Amino acid sequence: MTAHVTLGTREQARDGAPTLEAFSRQLLASGILSPSGVDGVWVRSATFERITEAVQRSVTALGRGRYETIQVPPVIARATLERAGYVRSFTDLVGSVHVFRGSDQQHADLLRRCDAGTDWAAVLDPADVMLSSAACHHVYPMCAGRLPPGGRRVEVRGECFRHEPSSQVTRHRSFRMHELVFVGEPVDALTHRDAGLAEGLELLSTLGLTVEAAAANDPFFGRAGAILADGQRQDAAKYEGVAPVGDLPTAIMSANYAAEHFGAAFAIATAGGVVAHSSCVAFGLDRVALALLSAHGLDVDRWPVGVRQRLWQ
Ligand code: AMP
Ligand code: ZN
Repeated sequence: MTAHVTLGTREQARDGAPTLEAFSRQLLASGILSPSGVDGVWVRSATFERITEAVQRSVTALGRGRYETIQVPPVIARATLERAGYVRSFTDLVGSVHVFRGSDQQHADLLRRCDAGTDWAAVLDPADVMLSSAACHHVYPMCAGRLPPGGRRVEVRGECFRHEPSSQVTRHRSFRMHELVFVGEPVDALTHRDAGLAEGLELLSTLGLTVEAAAANDPFFGRAGAILADGQRQDAAKYEGVAPVGDLPTAIMSANYAAEHFGAAFAIATAGGVVAHSSCVAFGLDRVALALLSAHGLDVDRWPVGVRQRLWQ
């Protein structure tokens, strides 16, 4: 079910766009996303999935058959997340998986806690997997060793978790990322990032989005993190494609040059024997869908013909 509502002026930002709050209210009233009961976790309708699936096809088409395609699970080896540097640099975003490995006695303790409504999760132990934070983290262990000439290109899609609880419909804890990843010669990694950024922005604008590139940095944790974020900006290592959702400019894609960070961490060498460089172009599928709904309205069948043709024909 979709809703058509005329928004009053108090619901509008100065440029006439509905505010994010007004857009969110309509979105939830339409049932396109539904609350799950906790912040940042949304239940997705068939309409929402119809959009994200079409966006995925468009991202795949950007790859023009040059990429190996993989689909990755929502969990990742804990050792991989450590080696990727995520645990040190983004400690506050990490999500852990805990499991029960206890005895009968500990089971009885857990049941007592459940009955008393106290913290039964305290009886669990951390597992050897964590929640996956970025789809591309799964790619680097696959590339360990000597790369073929020309490097490797991998298209990867998966559910990601970042602990940034928020009631905003644009900031999820569990969301989908679709990435085009390159691992190989330094100069090729930079070219891949720049071409991917340009082609990604072009794709998003042909879908009728007003999208702009902006220099960006990752939200590294803590005082040391501020230095890393400054360095990333100085190196022009990260760009985002930013489009409005309601009146909120929102990063819907990013293009990242990681230099030798992952190559060194995962012992990846180019065909010539030097440490590989990498870059990834990441589309936030849920945010692209939200930007499309915000730009074209909640009734997908009434989106501009050109946009519908690009997505569904
Ligand atoms: P990043 O690795 O931070 O550049 O993320 C890649 C893309 O994933 C971003 O451009 C967003 O579109 C999307 N993304 C990142 N964090 C979130 C989040 N908390 N909720 C929804 N989408 C996200
Ligand atoms: Zn990535």
